Amino acid sequence: MLIAGNWKMNGSLAKAADLAECLAQQRLNRIKSNVRVAVFPPAVHLPIVVHRLQQARIYVGAQDVSAHTDGAFTGELSASMLADVGCSMVLVGHSERRARLHESNREAANKYAAAQASGLTPVLCVGETLAERDAGHTSEVVEGQISAVAEQVGWENVCLGVIAYEPVWAIGTGITASPQQAQDVHAGIRQRLGDAGEQTYILYGGSVNAENAQALFAQEDVDGGLIGGAALQAAEFLRIIQLAEEA
Ligand code: PEP
Repeated sequence: MLIAGNWKMNGSLAKAADLAECLAQQRLNRIKSNVRVAVFPPAVHLPIVVHRLQQARIYVGAQDVSAHTDGAFTGELSASMLADVGCSMVLVGHSERRARLHESNREAANKYAAAQASGLTPVLCVGETLAERDAGHTSEVVEGQISAVAEQVGWENVCLGVIAYEPVWAIGTGITASPQQAQDVHAGIRQRLGDAGEQTYILYGGSVNAENAQALFAQEDVDGGLIGGAALQAAEFLRIIQLAEEA
């Protein structure tokens, strides 16, 4: 199991440091935990969070990465810069970036390749809109998003990353996919990855909280969660980690 917290554009330096400190203290008491934990703070908070989590075996990642290695890309952060400040992971193709910043499958694929080239583990976010689900296009959309990356880096490198299935209609809405809906999509992804995908983490994301996590984590192909809103409260996030430990 892998439990990842996407802090999005929330908080302040002091709040990020406090949250990290709180998670670090709790994790240090649970060194035998079989659950991996990652957090994705805003980029400007990465160094302090890395510093606070150094001893706690919690991975730190960025929420986005440039597809380029360096040069005249004002405002962008390269994968090697993120690695340099202590990141080991990065989100790629989050639906908020796809929808609001018009990030295409091809851009996500380029970012995924850049992340892996610098030794970061990309977390590829995929998922359908409500209209796409209602039209029966869920698997086609998800498969298209993953295949675009596979075309760029090969299926073996897709299997080395993490995939987060996040139905767009479930993100930040309080509506979660049912455990069966999540399992169906996850099983389809696992099947598409083939043998090399048996060890690939396939996370579910979309309004996961301490109330619904247990049923989602009980599904065979749900290997943990990408948590947004519920990751901003240490107690709730820690409870979700505990539910993953018990799953
Ligand atoms: C997310 O941002 O990836 C997410 C799943 O958010 P939330 O849990 O708030 O729906």
